[in-house]
Amino acid sequence: MKTIFALCAALVFSNTAVADDDVDRLVGAMLGQTPIISDLQSLTDEVGGRVTGSPANEAAIEWALARFLQAEVPATKEAFEMPYQWQERGVSASISGDFGFTPRVIAKPFSTGADELAGPLVDGGMGSAADFARLGGSAEGAWVLVGTPELNDEIGLGGLFGEYSASTQTTALAIDAGAAGVVFMSSRPQNLLYRLPQLSAKDVLPILLMDREHAQRAQRLLRNGQSLTMTSTIDVDSGYAYESANVIGEIRGSESPEEIVVIGAHLDSHDLGTGALDNGSNVTMMIDIARQITRLGLKPKRTIRFALWNGEEQGLVGSWRYTQQHQDELDDHIMAASFDIGTGRLLGFYTGGMDDIIPMVNEYLQPVAGLDPFEHFNVPVVGTDNFDFMMEGVPNLIGHQADANYASNYHASSDTFDKVDQQQLKMNSAIVAALVWGFANSDDRLPRWSRSQIEELVNRTDLEKQMRDFGVWEDWASGNRGRQP
Ligand SMILES: [Zn+2]
Repeated sequence: MKTIFALCAALVFSNTAVADDDVDRLVGAMLGQTPIISDLQSLTDEVGGRVTGSPANEAAIEWALARFLQAEVPATKEAFEMPYQWQERGVSASISGDFGFTPRVIAKPFSTGADELAGPLVDGGMGSAADFARLGGSAEGAWVLVGTPELNDEIGLGGLFGEYSASTQTTALAIDAGAAGVVFMSSRPQNLLYRLPQLSAKDVLPILLMDREHAQRAQRLLRNGQSLTMTSTIDVDSGYAYESANVIGEIRGSESPEEIVVIGAHLDSHDLGTGALDNGSNVTMMIDIARQITRLGLKPKRTIRFALWNGEEQGLVGSWRYTQQHQDELDDHIMAASFDIGTGRLLGFYTGGMDDIIPMVNEYLQPVAGLDPFEHFNVPVVGTDNFDFMMEGVPNLIGHQADANYASNYHASSDTFDKVDQQQLKMNSAIVAALVWGFANSDDRLPRWSRSQIEELVNRTDLEKQMRDFGVWEDWASGNRGRQP
């Protein structure tokens, strides 16, 4: 009896308790025993790599709905159209001529298919304009082999962005030169292969990635004056629109349900590994935060949506579709945050050029001040699911995380469960829980930016270049994407 009375008293107390108490309980729960790690093992080992448009991706959608259901968090599947299917069925290449060998290759996402395409292999240096000028007419009808600087965890994310940018430029030069195809050298040693999508030039050229060791061997032979021919068969399933879906969990606000805070991570991954760092770890974080809020019976004032985006790797499609489908609600979107950098320590946030959001973030992180220091970067970043919120003027954040082992395993066969820093993922989940709780309960809110404010951001930053590198500039420039005037 006494126990029951004490429990009732505790419940009454919790109903009248101040919000600070709620956030402390939530943070404590996130740091305690939760199924976040077993969820992640299930998503990666059981569902596996889940490219949008594949059966495994469909299974991942059902997996996510079931996890939300189990946690008693209402969740829906929000279908949308993916504009362009691309799956690799099989790829092979062989090198012949003065010397012959069989390198390991894969197709870059959005490469065209090719049936026994043979051509001279030529040394394209680092794929710069000067390299193509040196090649002159010899690039025409040839496979152009392009070197890359080695990427490792010390170079980190900057190296990844550099690789995207360089490959975009090289592909454009190769098209102009009339090349038969481009062969990029893997930037990572030990025969590691990975998918780096060619988002800016879909279906225009056969584009391969060759393991670093064989690509360097070919490069050395070419530089010694040997002549080599490459023959490749690229079998891809590509080119048609199809249906996919986001999974949106929702905890409805108790006082201002029409005001919405979104935190999200993308459910899809590439197919070579099992998408543990990119981005299963943050998917399970979203589910676990929703689960603990529900389990503790906490009632946020505003609605919180836990978005598991799809089609992120094909051009940030799922979050784009969400901003289209929820256009009427965007004025009341208080904040949208994305988490997409594996399990490296959360160091702060990319705040997208919105000065006013920084003091709010700092205030909401107070309950996890023991996990600081936090430092924010007030710059816009293109490359994950904050993008369409940013271009719609919705206050948006990206978790800025330590590179840890993210870059070396990025989109690669090695992005698997064993690479996850389990303890850090737990700590990150506590930080994100405090942040979302702050945005969902504060009396403050920022207004949505106008079209002219967004244009001003584009003009004063490097957004255009970033958008070009990720193949989304045309959509913005043509008015297809972003806030309408
Ligand atoms: Zn990602």
